[in-house]
This record gives sequence, C-alpha cells and structure tokens, in this order.
Amino acid sequence: MEQNTHTGRWWGADDDTITREAITTTAAVFPGIPRTVLTSRVSRRDPALVVRPPGGYAALRAFNARRRTADPRIQLAGDYFGPSSTYGALRSGEHAATRLLEHLSLL
Ligand SMILES: Cc1cc2nc3c(=O)[nH]c(=O)nc-3n(C[C@H](O)[C@H](O)[C@H](O)COP(=O)(O)OP(=O)(O)OC[C@H]3O[C@@H](n4cnc5c(N)ncnc54)[C@H](O)[C@@H]3O)c2cc1C
Repeated sequence: MEQNTHTGRWWGADDDTITREAITTTAAVFPGIPRTVLTSRVSRRDPALVVRPPGGYAALRAFNARRRTADPRIQLAGDYFGPSSTYGALRSGEHAATRLLEHLSLL
C-alpha cells in the first residue's frame, strides 16, 4: 500500500483510530452523529475499485434528465443512478415508480 495515498496513510491505523476519525469527519456534516454511534466495524478491502470515472456524475445527471421523458413506460432503478447506497437505491426506485404513475395517469 503506497504511503502517499489517503488509503495508504490510514491502512495500518488501528480500528479505534479509524472509527474516531470517521465519526469526527462525519460530524462536520451531520452534527448529531457522535451521540448515535453504538458500535462500529472497520472493513479493509484490497483491492477495492471505484467504478465511476471522474466526470461520471455529470454524465449521469444528463442521462437522468433525458430518461425522464425519453420513454416514460420504461423506468430503471437502482444504485447505478446515484451515489451507491441502499438509501440511494431505494429513492431511485421511488422516483421510478412516481414517474411511471405520472405517465400512466396521463394516458
Ligand atoms: C462491500 C459493499 C459494502 C457496502 N456497504 C454499504 C453500506 O454500508 N451502506 C449502504 O447504504 N450501502 C452499502 N453498499 C451499497 C449497497 O449494497 C448498494 O448500493 C445496494 O445494494 C444497491 O441496491 P440495488 O437494488 O440497486 O442493486 P443490488 O443490491 O446489487 O441488486 C441487484 C440484483 O439484481 C440481480 N441481477 C443482476 N443482473 C441480473 C440479471 N441479468 N437478471 C436477473 N437479476 C440480475 C443481482 O443478482 C442482484 O440481486 C455496499 C456495497 C458493497 C458491495
């Protein structure tokens, strides 16, 4: 693991240090988070690969805008259509269902 990368600098840190850093960093965005953490598990994955390339979210935004109207009878959902998370996948399904219902009510 290269020491000059973000992952390389953190790879050898113990789980408690990584957890503390993750909670501190997350608290900058969600201030109440530290009070809610009951337990944690650090998972080190090697190799791990971020599949979306630089600029990929801009291309995805354009694609998402197009597919709203391209053929409203075909609606796709899943974590591909936003940042990968179970919540993103769920919201994507809800959006797809909403678009489909809107289209069907217009028929
Ligand atoms: C290691 C790891 C850790 C993660 N940790 C978190 C986390 O902590 N929190 C979080 O929110 N998210 C996490 N995620 C992301 C989260 O798991 C995904 O974003 C979410 O599961 C995506 O849901 P989905 O329904 O879009 O796709 P999936 O859950 O991948 O479901 C797609 C389904 O389609 C099936 N399928 C594929 N091709 C075909 C085909 N041709 N025919 C029929 N079926 C097919 C697959 O077998 C699969 O069951 C993690 C993902 C990974 C890999």
